[in-house]
Amino acid sequence: MSFASSRLAPVKPSASAWVSQAAKEARARGEDVIDLGLGEPDFDTPDHIKEAAHQAALRGETKYPPTNGTLVMRQAVVDKFKRENALDYALDEVIVSNGAKQVLFNAFMATLEPGDEVLLCAPYFGQYKDIVLILGGVPVPLECPAEAGFLLTPDQLQGVITPKTRWLLLNQPSNPSGAVYSDAEITALGEVLADHERVLVLSDEIYEHILFDGRVFRSFAALCPGLKDRTLTVNGVSKAYAMTGWRIGYGAGHKELIAAMTKVQSQISSGACSIAQAAAAAALDGPQDEVRSFCRAFEARRDLVVARVARIPGLTLAAPGGAFYGLIGCAGLIGAKTPLGETLTNDTDVTAYLLKAAGVAAVPGSVYDLSPFFRISTAASEEVLNDAMDRIARAVSDLKGLTS
Ligand code: PMP
Repeated sequence: MSFASSRLAPVKPSASAWVSQAAKEARARGEDVIDLGLGEPDFDTPDHIKEAAHQAALRGETKYPPTNGTLVMRQAVVDKFKRENALDYALDEVIVSNGAKQVLFNAFMATLEPGDEVLLCAPYFGQYKDIVLILGGVPVPLECPAEAGFLLTPDQLQGVITPKTRWLLLNQPSNPSGAVYSDAEITALGEVLADHERVLVLSDEIYEHILFDGRVFRSFAALCPGLKDRTLTVNGVSKAYAMTGWRIGYGAGHKELIAAMTKVQSQISSGACSIAQAAAAAALDGPQDEVRSFCRAFEARRDLVVARVARIPGLTLAAPGGAFYGLIGCAGLIGAKTPLGETLTNDTDVTAYLLKAAGVAAVPGSVYDLSPFFRISTAASEEVLNDAMDRIARAVSDLKGLTS
């Protein structure tokens, strides 16, 4: 008997969840596994944020909240965009959802006609593609190789826009590559889009605060004010404030787009949890020193991993500009033989080998539509990362026939 509708047929289960599941199963078998698969900060939510949730519960904020978000949280979002991003949005140009993920779902559900194309810069957060597929859209991956810094170029963009193009999805700092655009590079992409009025831009800025080497974050809509009405700025508290479990994300854009997204959300989930919204508002409005200290820790770990990878033959990693991942090139391992005589033919083989031989769980680049790479998360202590890098180095040194 089959239960799943044909709509789900093209959608694969989340691969990073699969990697974590494999890591858990290996642990259950008694194997010593370091899980660098999942993308969530290893820090705890700061106490003042938890306290705000507690107080909201005690005040009785326990009823259905408005679908588009509580007034307090939407005001906090409006203030945040003004203060941090020089962006003016009104209260009805903002929606609060169950994580940035639901903002994405709402946006695509609200706008995509069957066959509409969504441009994705590969490597990209795999969920983008799956959501588009569920909704009958056509994901169009644009290869942004390591040699181009994993960045989309204006010429590339110009060459792929068709009458069917509905969205360009930009995500910086990027999951999984950590790539960050310069202001000039963003403006140049914006100039290409100026002539294509049907194309909307989804700027996923969820890693905005995890930015290294003194870079200053600039929102797409602030750099391209002429496109602000066609841009949905997406953000959330999961990464910056170590609040993945609270499930609060938000989006800002044209009021008609937000109204359509609110209509979608009203049919799926209603408003996001009132208590989590109170906590998220406290996160945005409150002291930001923990955000900065999380960022410094991620930068030190980035440095550690880059230095360690540089000493492992066959692997490459240019320093990511932000986020908490290392997208490690493994072209040099393809074709090599494991001690058991198996040949590593692609990055899925490489991650399977690392899990088995090194006890390190990582996500293959194929999940992000760019190979051969594997992604490790740096949301782990320096001690754990050093241990993981020791193990990877040992497993690689056991291979025969590295190509570089
Ligand atoms: N966008 C990107 C690029 C992400 O990496 C994630 C989380 N992995 C999300 C959106 C979703 O975040 P959340 O739903 O937790 O807000």
